[in-house]
Amino acid sequence: MPLLVMKFGGTSVADLSRIKNAAAKVKAEVARGYDVIVIVSAMSGKTNELVGWVESTSPLYDAREYDAVVSSGENVTAGLMALTLQEMDVPARSWHGWQVPIQTTSAHAAARFVDIPRANIDAKFAEGFKVAVVAGFQGVSPEGRITTLGRGGSDTTAVAFAAAFAAERCDIYTDVDGVYTTDPRISPKARKLDRIAFEEMLELASLGAKVLQTRSVELAMRYKVRLRVLSSFEDTDEHSGTLVCDEDEIMESKVVSGVAYSRDEAKMTLVRVEDRPGIAAAIFGPLADAGVNVDMIVQNISETDAPGDKRAYTDMTFSCPTNQVARAKKAIEDARDEGKFVYADLVTDIDVAKLSVVGIGMRSHAGVAARMFAALAAENVNIKVITTSEIKISVLIDRKYMELAVQALHDTFELDKA
Ligand code: ASP
Ligand code: MG
Repeated sequence: MPLLVMKFGGTSVADLSRIKNAAAKVKAEVARGYDVIVIVSAMSGKTNELVGWVESTSPLYDAREYDAVVSSGENVTAGLMALTLQEMDVPARSWHGWQVPIQTTSAHAAARFVDIPRANIDAKFAEGFKVAVVAGFQGVSPEGRITTLGRGGSDTTAVAFAAAFAAERCDIYTDVDGVYTTDPRISPKARKLDRIAFEEMLELASLGAKVLQTRSVELAMRYKVRLRVLSSFEDTDEHSGTLVCDEDEIMESKVVSGVAYSRDEAKMTLVRVEDRPGIAAAIFGPLADAGVNVDMIVQNISETDAPGDKRAYTDMTFSCPTNQVARAKKAIEDARDEGKFVYADLVTDIDVAKLSVVGIGMRSHAGVAARMFAALAAENVNIKVITTSEIKISVLIDRKYMELAVQALHDTFELDKA
């Protein structure tokens, strides 16, 4: 039997009528001849409520009990989904993670998959069951305790099942109808993409197009699981949504596929820090220890003060999330006070935004950066920092120009046209 994995997120199972709507989509796939593994999230808002209960009960909670409580939201949905399918005459049963058993590491609240043995579920399919409804986001540790995978983890559960059961596809039902060239709230010209490569999706997801948990895309890329993002709020067929797939499946991709942005970036510069071996390690070591997520890093050219002066100086700039600036500042000042390095000034700019253009086509096309910079210049937008990777060019600009810049780039690369 061909097999599909269908995952329904929180808003798609928010109440009994939404669960019925989701079950109807499952029934339709069964009618097309598929065995189906359904992965469910908790009803929307449920996980937050459970987390709140844990924190109110025990501020320094035992992570094992946190997982015991927080995993329960998915169990409720799994049982209700199985009952709903049974009411529609679809032979279905629910599975908690440990019943499969979904084996994970013991890293509570951040567990990783170790193995998903097929035998138990395969045996039920062989008995005539058509649907296995599996609670997402959870597993069982080697110690036999319930684990969870981290927020948004049901996406990753879905991909892991698709890989383990060699599913034809993994359909992720959510409240948006696919992946867009940019945020439609910023650019009304944003267009839904029919296909996007795993690597592009990874860049867009980590940049704020938060449709899929990043880990799920990494896993899908590793196991070549074809992922489809589509809306449970619409009538859908086999062409709906956006397929996230291997680049081989994308015939002639555009040079740029999307424009991503992130509003809450900050830029920090250590002015005139001594330029010598070990200086970057001395700065970024303490930042890492303080848990600062450094993103872009730019080091300026080296300068000496005066002829004959042997010491050289440079400026070191980096970006991090705005809400980590205080922590970053303290880490740098503490390291300076410990004598790890000296600098003339520490300049912080919290009114910046990051813009990125992403596309696998950049690998084989020159001139993308030049077009991007020209588009920003035409709008009089000053670029503060630039970084590039093989399939991405990112810039920091003043936050007040962000929307304008997104629209300009979307126009320049003609992303509204298929
Ligand atoms: N219910 C969990 C959460 O909200 C997992 C998920 O829905 O993916 O994080
Ligand atoms: Mg989600």
